[in-house]
Amino acid sequence: MIYEKLKKIWHSQWEISSGKLIFILSLYFATVLDLSFWRFVWNIVEINSIAVAVFAFSLPFFIFLTLWMFFNLIYVKYVFKSLTGLLLLVSAAANYAMFTFGIFIDSDMYRNVIETDVQETLALITPISCLWVFVTGVLPLLLLLKTKIKYDHFGRELKKRLFNIVLSLLILAAFAAVSYKEYVSFGRNHNEVRKLINTFNYIYATGRYYQKEARRNREFVILDQAPEFMPAADAPKKLIVLVVGETARAANFSLYGYERETNPLLQKEDLIVFGNVEACGTSTAVSVPCMFSHMTRDDLDVTDAKFTQNVLDIAKLAGYQVLWRENDGGCKGVCDRVPTEDMRATKDEKFCKNGSCFDEILLEGLDDKLKNLESDTLLVLHTMGSHGPTYFERYPDEFKKFRPSCDTADLQNCSQEEIISTYDNTILYTDYVLAQLIGILKKYPQYQTVMLYVSDHGESLGENNIYLHGLPYAIAPDYQTKVPMFMWMSDVYAKYNGVDVGALKEKASKENFSHDNLFHTLLNLTDIKTTVYDQHLDILK
Ligand SMILES: [Zn+2]
Repeated sequence: MIYEKLKKIWHSQWEISSGKLIFILSLYFATVLDLSFWRFVWNIVEINSIAVAVFAFSLPFFIFLTLWMFFNLIYVKYVFKSLTGLLLLVSAAANYAMFTFGIFIDSDMYRNVIETDVQETLALITPISCLWVFVTGVLPLLLLLKTKIKYDHFGRELKKRLFNIVLSLLILAAFAAVSYKEYVSFGRNHNEVRKLINTFNYIYATGRYYQKEARRNREFVILDQAPEFMPAADAPKKLIVLVVGETARAANFSLYGYERETNPLLQKEDLIVFGNVEACGTSTAVSVPCMFSHMTRDDLDVTDAKFTQNVLDIAKLAGYQVLWRENDGGCKGVCDRVPTEDMRATKDEKFCKNGSCFDEILLEGLDDKLKNLESDTLLVLHTMGSHGPTYFERYPDEFKKFRPSCDTADLQNCSQEEIISTYDNTILYTDYVLAQLIGILKKYPQYQTVMLYVSDHGESLGENNIYLHGLPYAIAPDYQTKVPMFMWMSDVYAKYNGVDVGALKEKASKENFSHDNLFHTLLNLTDIKTTVYDQHLDILK
């Protein structure tokens, strides 16, 4: 019976004029597909005067008219359905991501999406996300496909469209005239709000991304042709290990005063803890290239950075043996010109499950490598760390200490307490991996050894309803920008380099640091003399 009915519906066809359909679509996009925008507006607009009330009243019409104007312009015969279909599907997915994770869509987010590996994307495909996209995107698309669109002949259709466009422009201008101040201050105070308006946000982000890509200097920029490694006479070999953390936020490390004991092992080590460190970006795709670049957060252009010699290139050129061990979603171009070991590719059953591996895999076979170092070595370990939303897949069962945990990628099904507990378990596991690493390094007192750990960016765990990371820097909470950074230094290193560890600890606890310091500090640690070195950004100076 129901089947018969569905079949009948499937075989029937509706007819509607292009004008009406554009109206309905604009209404649909402005309401259902812009839920995240309206939630944001609801939370921030405080109606405390008549002027603000008028503004708030006009805003829905403003959004509707802007969309209506835009659709009148682009939804022309022949491409109407394909274009609408595309926008429906992308908007439904974008709306889900914005609504669930509190993200904003801009060119950095676009970069994030297209540079993310398949595994990370698969983690986001859950029954709930599929249902969301199906109901708000696929279903309307199916209805649209069943619809026959009536067009007027060309001249009349054109006239109608032009009329609609001029009409919306006039009404928009009237809104602007009445509520100019409110619109301007709203736009200025909440600059990021435009990144929530579906279709415009990702169309703009895509355009910006390719504009940035096109602008990039495709010729590889050499900063220094001949950097020099200048070790002290008869000094033992240097072994500098940089561990790049993933999504670790300082607030959840007991080294940083977190009330839960998430660093039981590291707290027993003699570490130099940098108390206040700011990340360069709020996503891997921005932070990682920035960390290895001589560019600072203020003058960073991610694309340019990728086409410029970074600190690994300089170390290699100076004669260092450089090795990048990867267990995250790739090195974002940073390790392209140095030897790399992708630990995920080993698919070692001891550590790997569902396409990702526990960070201990980064220590596999390390002993053998370190036993007989041929030359001074710079080793980078790129960890999977606390990568979400599948925090529960980041650690073996023994580390499920903080409970109750959230054992699903659908964060909306977990309480904040559960999410934080799960996240804390990832930090507990990171603590273990780093302590193991320090244990290995201690076995080789014949080298001047330093381990430096620093995370790429932090994470939001439901504070103010924000999850994950990647918020525009200007409005990103500290949870996303304050990262842990600490150093373990062997006595041999301190002795040969005249480091006053006590004084360094004092400095580390008092001063402010950022990813900008990394490039120059690594040059100091490796004893490389180069023209791009800036001592003001060198932590050890
Ligand atoms: Zn990251």
